[in-house]
Amino acid sequence: MTPDLEDLPLRCRCGHVRGVANEVTPYAGFRFVCYCLDCQSFARFLKRSDVLDTAGGTDIFHMPAGRVKLTAGTDAVRCLHFSSRVFRWYTDCCWTPVANTAGPRFPVVGLIHSFMDHEADGRSRDEALGVPLCRIFERSAVAPLPPNAPPPRSLSLVALRVPTLLGWWLRGLGRPNPFFDDHANAPLSMPRVLTSNERASLANDSMDRHPGLPFV
Ligand SMILES: [Zn+2]
Ligand SMILES: [Zn+2]
Repeated sequence: MTPDLEDLPLRCRCGHVRGVANEVTPYAGFRFVCYCLDCQSFARFLKRSDVLDTAGGTDIFHMPAGRVKLTAGTDAVRCLHFSSRVFRWYTDCCWTPVANTAGPRFPVVGLIHSFMDHEADGRSRDEALGVPLCRIFERSAVAPLPPNAPPPRSLSLVALRVPTLLGWWLRGLGRPNPFFDDHANAPLSMPRVLTSNERASLANDSMDRHPGLPFV
């Protein structure tokens, strides 16, 4: 079977954890760059600051949870909690940031670019996802923003998010969520909660915590 042109292969750095995101086009999701401290701390915790842009931004693509599938290596998928609102998923085979989600019922997976295999896809990230539509929490950026940083979030963009998410939910695209058991709603891996000391060692201040819904 030839893979669908709009299927985006997913792969951790070492290739143990794999998956696929179906129907990935610039119109099928929402790409943004988050500069919040929790996203930065997540990358630092994994010793993967290389996934951040020069100002500490994380490139994230929000898409319907039901279109994301994990096909191999789920035994290596782990979860981290900075707050109970956001589940941060990564692999412990090679410390690849995978995705952010809210709880099992929220219809969105925020795929992190480091888990996307654009080489196997044959499309560049911009071709597959479109350019990032906005940035958020740039007050927490650790350096001047890169010249190609997306614009700040506009009110109209925020207003558009709610009907989009509601549409995904109504059309049943939010399930199954690959990171939660579809019946028991249990997370694929029990979230590890960092101690306050661990958190303090990852961030210098507490200005911007990741906002939670609708930007998980
Ligand atoms: Zn790996
Ligand atoms: Zn963030």
